[in-house]
Amino acid sequence: MAQRPPRIAIIGAGPSGLYTAQALLQRDPELSVDIYDWLPTPFGLLRYGVAPDHTSIKAVAVALARVFDSPHVRFRGLVEFGRHFTRADALACYDAVVYAVGSSEDQRMGVPGEELEGSSSARQFVAWYSGHPGGVHQSLDGVNRVAVVGVGNVALDVARLLAKGPDELDPTDMPEDVLAELRRHTVHEVTIVGRRGPEHASYTPTELRELAERPDVQVLVTGVDWDAVPTDGLDRRTQTNLAILREAAEAPVEGARVTLRFAFWERPVGVTGAERVTGLTLERTTMGDDGVLRGTGDLTTLPVQLVLRAIGYRGRPVPGVPFDAKHGIIPTEESRVVQDGVVQPGEYAVGWIKRGATGVIGTNKLDAGQVVPSVLADLQTLPRRELADPDAVLSSRGVIPSTFEDWRRIEDAEASLGSTFGRVRTKISTWSDLIDIVG
Ligand SMILES: Cc1cc2nc3c(=O)[nH]c(=O)nc-3n(C[C@H](O)[C@H](O)[C@H](O)COP(=O)(O)OP(=O)(O)OC[C@H]3O[C@@H](n4cnc5c(N)ncnc54)[C@H](O)[C@@H]3O)c2cc1C
Repeated sequence: MAQRPPRIAIIGAGPSGLYTAQALLQRDPELSVDIYDWLPTPFGLLRYGVAPDHTSIKAVAVALARVFDSPHVRFRGLVEFGRHFTRADALACYDAVVYAVGSSEDQRMGVPGEELEGSSSARQFVAWYSGHPGGVHQSLDGVNRVAVVGVGNVALDVARLLAKGPDELDPTDMPEDVLAELRRHTVHEVTIVGRRGPEHASYTPTELRELAERPDVQVLVTGVDWDAVPTDGLDRRTQTNLAILREAAEAPVEGARVTLRFAFWERPVGVTGAERVTGLTLERTTMGDDGVLRGTGDLTTLPVQLVLRAIGYRGRPVPGVPFDAKHGIIPTEESRVVQDGVVQPGEYAVGWIKRGATGVIGTNKLDAGQVVPSVLADLQTLPRRELADPDAVLSSRGVIPSTFEDWRRIEDAEASLGSTFGRVRTKISTWSDLIDIVG
């Protein structure tokens, strides 16, 4: 009897999961691959993280979706791994399981007042404007000044969306209620706070230029003595960042609508306010010769009504799956999952849950290229067992996965909703509406 083709489960239909499926099928088109996600929508943070106005990056979804053209690949939406389908289920049903669940928690500042209303994470803000069904409405009522803590691209995304004029966001696919909130907001000052200097910022020149060179944005930089910023030994990205920032800060913008302030060498030490945020207290910092960052005790309070921390995403433990809580990742060796120092046969991780929350979409393609040789090499040596039927396991729990055709129906519904507002597409952002479409 001919051997059945190996069966592989990928948990998470974000970029890393989909690139892994693509790379697996390129090496062996006969493999059978099921891709699970707890959402009925594929693409992970490409749909729910990448800024809505970055349409060229969003277009990567078209290429990623091609993996579902293969008759051997199934999308299994609305299945929460760890709840509807466990690690033991996956190991009983598949020859190999690849965890690609990303990083869905955020880092905290760990300062008093962080819990006040008006203080939240950029992750929550991004989930809201991206129309994630788990997103919570973010009211900008009475918000004139915003502090964004962190100097990476996520901070710039948030600042840029607040800086954009009312009509500029119409071509995006943002949900209507988000668009309405962003059209009428009165934010006129955004401060981006970095605990070290501009030479340490992690944003990239394209994103910085896109914001800092806007004709309606006045850039201010505080806390920096430009003559003291080191120039030797800096990589090209940092040199370009410094040039863009300095030039923007030195160019007066007539009638600017928004002031964008970069406050370097400051760290948050408290969020102030009674019922909701009225300020963010910052302490000036300095770096000693030992390279350790210290507070100087010199405090100022920025009057702001919204504080968003954009200091990184981190992985959330998947029930039953080994987890390195310190780094927020699944521990691996050559992409193979490691538990208590022992490599687990047939289990792998890829993407943010393997590397931590760093890297752009393309980094996950390279990562997928690394996990696939390990999976294929192990499939050669692992014994081909009799496997359980995943559909039977799910149906015994009353779970009916949504399919890729269901996702296409969501896409069509978003296009037709968009056309009623004269837009190309409007995201459907509530669970109930998504479930109605999926049926
Ligand atoms: C705000 C933001 C903006 C970004 N902008 C850009 C950009 O402009 N350009 C760029 O190149 N990169 C950008 N990135 C980076 C890019 O989004 C990541 O590199 C990429 O999404 C990581 O892919 P991933 O597959 O590892 O994780 P994710 O994209 O997070 O995918 C993980 C998937 O797993 C699913 N999942 C999680 N837990 C479970 C579970 N228990 N059961 C079932 N499914 C589960 C999730 O629903 C999700 O679909 C941005 C990231 C963020 C956060």
